[in-house]
Amino acid sequence: MTEMSSSSNGSQVKRQPVKTNVFQHLINHTGVPGITSLFPYLHPGAIVIGGVYSLNYPGSPEFDFHHTNDCEEIFISLVSNDFQRPSGIIGVGAKTHEVNNHTGTQASNPEAYTVALLIQRNKEKPPQREVFSIYCPNEECKKLVFRRVMDNFEGEQQPYYPELKTITVLGPDAVNEFNQTDRTCHSCGTVLPHFPIENMSWSLYTRQVRLANRARADYERFLANQNAPSPAIGAGAGEAINK
Ligand SMILES: [Zn+2]
Repeated sequence: MTEMSSSSNGSQVKRQPVKTNVFQHLINHTGVPGITSLFPYLHPGAIVIGGVYSLNYPGSPEFDFHHTNDCEEIFISLVSNDFQRPSGIIGVGAKTHEVNNHTGTQASNPEAYTVALLIQRNKEKPPQREVFSIYCPNEECKKLVFRRVMDNFEGEQQPYYPELKTITVLGPDAVNEFNQTDRTCHSCGTVLPHFPIENMSWSLYTRQVRLANRARADYERFLANQNAPSPAIGAGAGEAINK
């Protein structure tokens, strides 16, 4: 089915149907936990289908945060091994949910993994908020230490290949901000560990989607210069040779 939707100026945009093989797509994942958009459609109203996989590797640093999403997240566990969500499970996640890699069997069994789809329908209009929160790990305290709120409709939009802001803005952007604070719970004084953003797929995804856009923009400029009448290269070289 070809999807039709309205652009910001009210005109109809036609988007071609695309398909992918989720397992093959996973080869391109850049780290753990991995989540990327399986399709290039992230516009307002789009059904965004994320491919997710999770696997701890030896020495995986622990991470823990809460994610709040205005949109409901539907998950489909395609296949998993010794993971919290068995193969074939479909469900709707809570709007605020904890994400970590150090509880359940995932922490103790290096063979535990999951391959899943995470699906949400984007809002047609702003706001579409998502929140990244870190809570104090002290069991007696559990107070909020850091919070970053994002509206998907705000901020920089990539010109050629859209970025999944759930990863880029709530990933490295928010985490780097947290890591630059004193990471201290102001209720009980617990100092939280550095969030291991360097080891997460979010960092590479963010770098690569932004590089892809920058490179494409450079390429377009290069092409434009090739097509423009250019006195510089030919004439200049000729003059130099004739001297
Ligand atoms: Zn605390």
